[in-house]
Amino acid sequence: MAKVTILEERCKGCKLCTTVCPRKIVVINSGKLNSKGFHPAGVTDMDKCIGCAFCATICPDCAIVVEK
Ligand code: SF4
Ligand code: SF4
Repeated sequence: MAKVTILEERCKGCKLCTTVCPRKIVVINSGKLNSKGFHPAGVTDMDKCIGCAFCATICPDCAIVVEK
């Protein structure tokens, strides 16, 4: 099973990753703030991840790591 790690401190909440996930499991966590004041992205249901790494590829801040 794939594992997605969001490096929350690097995230600026731009939402790009949320637009490319084919399973629609990457969302902005509006209940959380990182130290820069941004709402970081998060994965809602890791079991649905297919490990495509589209989210990691599109992130301009290299804030997502996908392991298969
Ligand atoms: S690796 Fe693919 S399926 Fe998994 S969270 Fe990222 S975009 Fe979605
Ligand atoms: S693309 Fe990167 S910086 Fe933008 S919301 Fe997603 S994880 Fe955060």
